Amino acid sequence: MLEGVKGILKGLVKELGTRTLSEKEIRQYVENFKLQLVANDVAVEVAEDLGEKLAAKLKELRLKRFEDSSAEIRKMMTELIDDILQEGDLEEVLEKIRGKSSGGEPFVILFVGPNGSGKTTTIVKIAHYLKKLGYPSIIAAADTFRAGAIEQIQKLAKSVKVRVVSQKYGADPAAVAMDAVMSAKANNIPVVLIDTAGRTEVDRNLLEEMRKIKRVVNPDLVIYVGDALAGNSAVEQARRFNEYVGIDYIVLAKLDADARGGSAISISRLTGKPILFVGVGQELSDLKPFSKELIKSILFGP
Ligand code: GDP
Repeated sequence: MLEGVKGILKGLVKELGTRTLSEKEIRQYVENFKLQLVANDVAVEVAEDLGEKLAAKLKELRLKRFEDSSAEIRKMMTELIDDILQEGDLEEVLEKIRGKSSGGEPFVILFVGPNGSGKTTTIVKIAHYLKKLGYPSIIAAADTFRAGAIEQIQKLAKSVKVRVVSQKYGADPAAVAMDAVMSAKANNIPVVLIDTAGRTEVDRNLLEEMRKIKRVVNPDLVIYVGDALAGNSAVEQARRFNEYVGIDYIVLAKLDADARGGSAISISRLTGKPILFVGVGQELSDLKPFSKELIKSILFGP
């Protein structure tokens, strides 16, 4: 997981800890460092930022040489990474669920994102996760566009005993979502999770459709599900969804399969939105609340 970025950071600490570089060498090193980051899906802005901060630190270290600076460089890089990550406050979300529930209203979460990002699987994982914490949910199968989408979510949800509200293909997604909200309200179910259609290409029509669903349903949260493997395009799409529809949190699926690691590092910085969960496998229990510690322990671990 994230071996690409991890390797770059490891190499950096090892190579620079005991070497004194001239100013020219620092420049060359830093430019190469930035290129390596970008090759591992780190967004250009983030690579620039990390590179320039590294350069400043290396110049400073040059003045007090002849000692091993590995620990200092490692500490600095850990702080820089910590700075660009943003973790979602799951406890705050649970608190809001309890708040709405005590007023007799379900807490409604709208999920958006491109096709194949892992949206359907992630929604069922979250339903399973919340259920284990004592918050049952209803899923709205509001992807009425993609053939097989309704059956797929029904099958997955059945395996964790979560109810799905659906209509026919071609039905108005907002109507399906509203049905699920009504049903949750009538049955005192505290959470509604709305699956929506994606496209391979995130186009204006899709964004417009999501905007419409959001307007009609008025969800408590909008969560963008991105595919860590999609690297920069996951980040770009998150940015577009945020600008056009407005998102509150990000879930990054398939982190387990991401050998580079740049999207996890860049996505919050470029959207300003925290990551709430990460997907770490295909099983429905393969979901982890996101934390900075999780990423830092992977990147700076053994
Ligand atoms: P959707 O089109 O966005 O609804 O995506 P799906 O939920 O159908 O997922 C697409 C594929 O990604 C499926 O084969 C999932 O099993 C797989 N997938 C989803 N989440 C993860 C994850 O966290 N890790 C891995 N390795 N695979 C995942």
